[in-house]
Amino acid sequence: MATQRILDFIATRRPNGPCLVVDLDVVEDNFQAFRKALPDSSIYYAVKANPAPEILRLLASLGSSFDCASVAEIEMAMDAGATADRVSFGNTIKKERDVAAAHALGVSLFAVDCVEEVEKVARAAPGARVFCRVLTDGAGAEWPLSRKFGCVPAMAVDVLVHAQRLGLAATGVSFHVGSQQCDTEAWDAALADAAKVFADLAEQGITLTLVNMGGGFPTRYLKDVPTAQAYGRSIFAALRRHFGNRLPETIIEPGRGMVGDAGVIKAEVVLVSRKSAADENRWVYLDIGKFGGLAETMDEAIRYPITTPRDGDRMEPCVLAGPTCDSADVLYEKKPYPLPISLTIGDEVLIENTGAYTTTYSAVAFNGFEPLRSYVI
Ligand SMILES: *Cc1c(COP(=O)(O)O)cnc(C)c1O
Repeated sequence: MATQRILDFIATRRPNGPCLVVDLDVVEDNFQAFRKALPDSSIYYAVKANPAPEILRLLASLGSSFDCASVAEIEMAMDAGATADRVSFGNTIKKERDVAAAHALGVSLFAVDCVEEVEKVARAAPGARVFCRVLTDGAGAEWPLSRKFGCVPAMAVDVLVHAQRLGLAATGVSFHVGSQQCDTEAWDAALADAAKVFADLAEQGITLTLVNMGGGFPTRYLKDVPTAQAYGRSIFAALRRHFGNRLPETIIEPGRGMVGDAGVIKAEVVLVSRKSAADENRWVYLDIGKFGGLAETMDEAIRYPITTPRDGDRMEPCVLAGPTCDSADVLYEKKPYPLPISLTIGDEVLIENTGAYTTTYSAVAFNGFEPLRSYVI
């Protein structure tokens, strides 16, 4: 959302070229909303959503822990003030030497989803705690995480038994219901699976204690989304349904929901044209596109709200595209985007709620365009 602080910053600093401006007050509000919605869960911010040092420092000072996917992200979290016990190495695909590097930094909580990965962790981080990720179907998510991560629950049992046998501490189960998950009930089926894994391991004398419920909490783009409170209620009810009175320790890992609505991208209209005199849709080219940070427009999955100085004028659907010489650099074409008919070259537009998954997705110098600049205020 374009807060007054963000609008003032853009108006007074007049940054040249596209840039992301993030308002830390919004990040803090989001953190407090998650804490209030799920007071018994620990919050592990998913660093990949936006690793700006100011954001990590704020969250570390508020008491957040961090879900990291690489040694570099672990170092960023620790540089921001997190101690190693507040870091989870949540990527299920790690080099053994990276597991060793994390272990040397003091990290002792690792994600796995197969026995091959367990063996790496057992060799490189002896005695560490591991949780096994189970597959979810991602239904209801606008940015599903597919089948790349996790194994079926029956295999998770074998993976955790194997971990315990190799001297690791089999600690629990994790899942991710898919990013931009707009169904507050989506956690129910995964928690049922998790409870089943807990029960099967208990039969083998292994007591699990942790359920990592992942991220997935949405940002409001064009459509309204449920509140953190609504997710909290639904998740708590599902925990009760499947674990009864013996509630496990729980973790949530919000990424998008923590920073998405805290950022706004300022961009500029470079060209407005048609492909033929009879062309139904105008083409509007911005100075930012898929390679400048808007990668989540892939398959037109995420539709960002865009405001222009001419809002209020008559609107007409446009094809919206980026500035690079790659034909994939089109943001919205299958479903054209309504923009004011008076929009013209040089107009400044705001692409709202772009605080998550933008700076880190921007290319380094494709076509000579610099990576997306970011200001955290
Ligand atoms: C990306 C990721 C997250 C954050 O997901 P959001 O949908 O942005 O909240 C959380 N956990 C893991 C393991 C991830 O890979």
